Amino acid sequence: MHVVWLKRDLRLADHAPLHAALDAADDGNGLLLLYVAEPERQAQPDVSDLHLAWDLANARALLQAVDQRGGTMRIEVGDAVDVLDRLNNVEPIHTIQSHEETGLMWSWNRDRRVLQWCTEHGIPWTEHAANGVVRRLKNRDRWNGMRNRRMAADALPAPVALPPPQKLESVDASPEWVPPYNTIVTTPLKPGEMEAHRWLDTFLDQRYTRYLPTISNPATSPEGSSRLSAYIATGVLSVRQVVKAITATRLRANQLRAEDRSVLAKNVNAFASRVSWRCHFVQRLEVETTMDTTAINPELCTQLGRQDDDTRFQAWATGQTGWPFFDACMRSLIATGWINFRMRAMLQSVAAYTLNLPWQRTGQHLAKLFIDYEPGIHWSQIHMQSGVTGINSVRAYSVTKQSLDHDMQGEFIRTWVPELAMVPTPYIHEPWTMSTEMQAAIGVSIGTTYPTPIVDESEARTKGIAAAYAAKRNEQVNARSAAVYTKHGSRKQRGRRPTSRRTTTAKPSTTAQPVRPSLQRSLLDFEGTHPR
Ligand SMILES: Cc1cc2nc3c(=O)[nH]c(=O)nc-3n(C[C@H](O)[C@H](O)[C@H](O)COP(=O)(O)OP(=O)(O)OC[C@H]3O[C@@H](n4cnc5c(N)ncnc54)[C@H](O)[C@@H]3O)c2cc1C
Repeated sequence: MHVVWLKRDLRLADHAPLHAALDAADDGNGLLLLYVAEPERQAQPDVSDLHLAWDLANARALLQAVDQRGGTMRIEVGDAVDVLDRLNNVEPIHTIQSHEETGLMWSWNRDRRVLQWCTEHGIPWTEHAANGVVRRLKNRDRWNGMRNRRMAADALPAPVALPPPQKLESVDASPEWVPPYNTIVTTPLKPGEMEAHRWLDTFLDQRYTRYLPTISNPATSPEGSSRLSAYIATGVLSVRQVVKAITATRLRANQLRAEDRSVLAKNVNAFASRVSWRCHFVQRLEVETTMDTTAINPELCTQLGRQDDDTRFQAWATGQTGWPFFDACMRSLIATGWINFRMRAMLQSVAAYTLNLPWQRTGQHLAKLFIDYEPGIHWSQIHMQSGVTGINSVRAYSVTKQSLDHDMQGEFIRTWVPELAMVPTPYIHEPWTMSTEMQAAIGVSIGTTYPTPIVDESEARTKGIAAAYAAKRNEQVNARSAAVYTKHGSRKQRGRRPTSRRTTTAKPSTTAQPVRPSLQRSLLDFEGTHPR
């Protein structure tokens, strides 16, 4: 049989490995779609039950769709090598097809073990490019063009029939201890490819009008934002499918009145930019596989000297800091698995600049809470919002300013911090400024029913900002920042820098890369940090 090893690509449409397996199945052998829930992944400090539960819900929806096409899919639990070995003993595997996975170090190591097993058993394993990420890229200069050409290529249709293997049947061996995702968080998202496309359509047909107006408001963005991230992260939607839908929407715009056309252009262009940033960030992880533990500018981290402190961490992590708007954001994230970009940035920035906490532990905590956890974006953003790259500006969010900007009347605070529901609006952003008499009159006692601020925000943040600028002046930090910029910085801004180079375009390699033992050495040698 031919195996399609599903990882973060739980869909039937725009699935190159599936099409390759169908072609291979012309030899008379059927194909098996395989999803492995790996205990090793579950044991990672950045992975939570929510991630597994959402993936499994989508895997189950896919299994149903596969069954409807006469095909076979198995959801197995275990180490990938063990599962492949077991299945190979039941029905011999002729080929394995999968997408390239850009993940943290453990996933590269697992892929190495799978490669070794394939080599020992003489089974060819072919990996196909995923989204806009280009593997074995020598430098970033030509990446943008490559990504755009990939997005412009046709999306593959979902196959109508899937020839099954001879001896294996569909099985859902999902672990019973994983609770349904919608008991872990309250979310409007429903699993499966059809739901994902419906969600995409509702956004590009209608919801986009509220995209920019609500983008940073924690109360209204859950409805105004696309909320597609969870589908893209688990691969129920490919980035190319989203890009194609954007193109179709732009074409449709010609039929609209000028005023509506302008609303569409503004909102859909902003959305499209973000979709392209996604690939840019995941491309970073392709060569920085230890982004979750190692700073890309270690000299800057040393200079900053941030220290772990469990009391501060726990208050931050559970939404008990004593800053109402911050606590409301953290609690709403814990309850729903999602919060908008600006609030994610604020949560991490407060941890780093104001609470002086190291980024690794807080980054893991946030990763576990996000239903849309995507390591490439997440760790890049964690570094940026903590001010540890050396190439981004110092941006330390003030909780009180965000509170006044995005929740002037305190409604969001009252929803998520009910113990402050009775606080009058003039005090809702800084309830500790209420007199003891006023607190007693409304039944609130700062320090008892709601915490006193964990630190003086203004003082601590000012100190954090000063420390960040001081660290950036260090010579070794500067030297490293220049190297980081050359390797990862946005190519769009290069023209403004004296070091800029004109970029040339070359034909991208769009063909799938067979993973052969002979390639191993060159893969290991690539860029020094590249794991394969
Ligand atoms: C500290 C921090 C951690 C983050 N971690 C993640 C993460 O784990 N997974 C994740 O998908 N996004 C992450 N983001 C980026 C962003 O906040 C989310 O993509 C966005 O909020 C998802 O909601 P949406 O789908 O409605 O986004 P939209 O605004 O509708 O954007 C559409 C798509 O573009 C991509 N996108 C949006 N913003 C960004 C961005 N700034 N950088 C790269 N791609 C972007 C996402 O795939 C998103 O689904 C993080 C941001 C910060 C500041």
